[in-house]
Amino acid sequence: MKKETVLVTGGSGFLGVHTVLQLLQWGYTVRTTVRSLTKKDSVLHALNEGGITNVSALSFYEADLTSDKGWKEAISGCDYVLHVASPFPASDPEDEMELIIPARDGALRVLKAALQAGVKRVVLTSSFAAVGYSPKPDGHLFTEEDWTSPGDVEQAYIKSKTLAEKAAWDFINNAGVGMELTVINPVGIFGPILGNISSASVDGVIKKILNGDSKESPAFTMGVVDVRDVADLHIKAMLAPKAAGERFIATADEIVSFYDVAQLIKQNRPGQSAAVADMEPIPKQFYNGISNQKAVTALQWHPRSTQEALLASVDSL
Ligand code: NAP
Repeated sequence: MKKETVLVTGGSGFLGVHTVLQLLQWGYTVRTTVRSLTKKDSVLHALNEGGITNVSALSFYEADLTSDKGWKEAISGCDYVLHVASPFPASDPEDEMELIIPARDGALRVLKAALQAGVKRVVLTSSFAAVGYSPKPDGHLFTEEDWTSPGDVEQAYIKSKTLAEKAAWDFINNAGVGMELTVINPVGIFGPILGNISSASVDGVIKKILNGDSKESPAFTMGVVDVRDVADLHIKAMLAPKAAGERFIATADEIVSFYDVAQLIKQNRPGQSAAVADMEPIPKQFYNGISNQKAVTALQWHPRSTQEALLASVDSL
């Protein structure tokens, strides 16, 4: 039986291409949007590296989050939309609106087009950025109940993800009659790179530690999750009836500092560690917890370990 049609926005991105790959493996008819069709070959190359030899079930559409052009064509006829695309640059731009406008207005553009097209459910890729960046007491365990207050943060990327997720929930609660929304909030995404499609998380953490550019462990820790598990969680969230109207944090079990990542690489990949700096550990007070229990229990999601996710990025690089 022919499976349903799913649109993944941003198939040219690290998470986007892994999500397209898994949907094709499951037998869905898949569409993906790219900002420019010149990216098509890079996506096909990455999928081929992931083992996809027949791409007859995949089609490409050109659409930018800052313009209405192309979205109606990409979405009409789809059963589900996985809205993964959003700007994730290596560093914040001077003008925060460069990120906020595509993230927030782009999400609303996709939701509106999906509603008009009669899509059943949109799964939005938000971020732990929208969950865990307002001050909390030491030892706090972050869950889906937590929200970052945009007024508490300076960084444009964190604001862009928080404002986009808030706008999406407002839209669905006020105007989204008949359509469902589910949100995924990943922590730092690592894991294997397909083709040449890396991301600011892999390049900004793993590559910098490997080549010795990171000399000290900054005073912060991060959750880690494997890109394959985040793609899998999007598909589980797309299908599970009880996921409607819910947000799910995507994280493996541990949180780490740059020091921890450097140690892991030195211990497990000594041949790649020549340039890895000797860092000092950071104080334990920075190690707040992040719970993955909601996705684990409600969606039977079983993420790979933090170590496996990080080492898969090391091996890809
Ligand atoms: P990525 O590789 O940089 O992917 C971002 C994708 O968004 C790319 O396909 C990019 O297209 C697309 N995009 C950016 N601006 C756009 C615009 N104006 N119009 C249309 N498409 C646009 O990063 P990623 O890690 O896969 O990120 C995917 C999603 O996961 C994002 O929503 C991000 O916020 C979220 N996320 C990532 C992490 C992480 O650690 N990586 C953690 C939490 C959440 P181009 O190829 O044309 O640039």
